[in-house]
Amino acid sequence: MREFGYQRAHDVAAAVALLGTAPDARLLGGGTNLVDLMKAGVERPGLLVDVRDLPLDEIRATTDGGLRIGATVSNSDLAAHPAVRRHYPALTQALLAGASGQLRNMATVAGNLLQRTRCGYFADLAKPCNKRAPGTGCPAVTGDHRNHAILGASAHCVATHPSDMAVALAAFDAVVTYETADGPGALPLDAFYLPVGDTPHIETALPAGAVITGVTLPPVPAAAHSRYRKVRERASYAFAIGSVAAALDVRDGVVRDVRLAFGAVASRPWRARAAERALIGGPADADAFAAAADAELAAAEPLPENRYKVTLTRNLVVTELARLAEEATR
Ligand SMILES: Cc1cc2nc3c(=O)[nH]c(=O)nc-3n(C[C@H](O)[C@H](O)[C@H](O)COP(=O)(O)OP(=O)(O)OC[C@H]3O[C@@H](n4cnc5c(N)ncnc54)[C@H](O)[C@@H]3O)c2cc1C
Ligand code: SF4
Repeated sequence: MREFGYQRAHDVAAAVALLGTAPDARLLGGGTNLVDLMKAGVERPGLLVDVRDLPLDEIRATTDGGLRIGATVSNSDLAAHPAVRRHYPALTQALLAGASGQLRNMATVAGNLLQRTRCGYFADLAKPCNKRAPGTGCPAVTGDHRNHAILGASAHCVATHPSDMAVALAAFDAVVTYETADGPGALPLDAFYLPVGDTPHIETALPAGAVITGVTLPPVPAAAHSRYRKVRERASYAFAIGSVAAALDVRDGVVRDVRLAFGAVASRPWRARAAERALIGGPADADAFAAAADAELAAAEPLPENRYKVTLTRNLVVTELARLAEEATR
């Protein structure tokens, strides 16, 4: 590992200022992803700006009935918060499905959003990778892509985003807020993660030098009836090979509101808007759930070794919506 500087910021303005002092400065949250990438030589910062002392560790109700979540809130504290458990249970379930207890104690909300892909080629300096070294190629397209994207990918990169938390946040229209030297800004999660295109190394619309200050969740009544289901290759301590965050509001057998987002299928959490449109105002039954999943997955372009994800995601949609519909009748 090469030498680097370390500074601890105590307010957001200081963090923004320190970040602006060097182009190779990076913010340090829990360090559970960044430090691993530094050890692998993928990240080579000259300065680490530690954000864990920033006054951004609160979760509070907003006046409109939503939630404001500070950027340095740990994944464990967010999962355990009573308002999250009650009003957005899929978010708690998504967080608890990720990593391990020790990692969740360290990991922050902002760090979780910005964690990098687990594509094996990305972390292997001996291999080409357009995301790590633009213009070098993407060996995953013809190589190991069992756990790669089936939606929204490009020939330049087929990596998936690894976060569970972000999938639930996408379903509930979360907005990411940040601070820069030019002032504050906000990005809905849909606009926060950029399409892959021919620039897979540019993953978010966050301006250069921005410090994420938190995430705002609007009030979403349907989210009180929500679930997160994750499929992985072993029972714990593994990233998803498929996941779904689902929320359903059913009255008299008719879908009044539905939220759906998929994980492990794209370079970002995949909000399933075509499926949502297909369901609203229609019956809450297995045929409708399957047709909605098919409407979304019609856009899938699987590679030879990851076709299973189309079926897996379809089955997750049908199963989780059926569970929510059944719960609504109790
Ligand atoms: C063994 C293992 C298993 C895991 N399993 C899962 C899993 O199943 N599901 C899952 O979702 N995750 C999993 N993770 C990933 C884990 O959730 C992330 O590593 C963690 O959420 C990152 O948060 P952090 O605070 O440690 O980020 P850091 O590593 O500190 O930072 C990550 C990135 O965010 C940037 N950053 C941090 N704070 C800010 C800020 N305020 N503003 C702007 N940029 C910022 C950093 O500069 C860096 O680029 C796993 C990790 C490990 C090591
Ligand atoms: S899928 Fe993306 S991250 Fe993986 S090798 Fe290809 S360019 Fe790199």
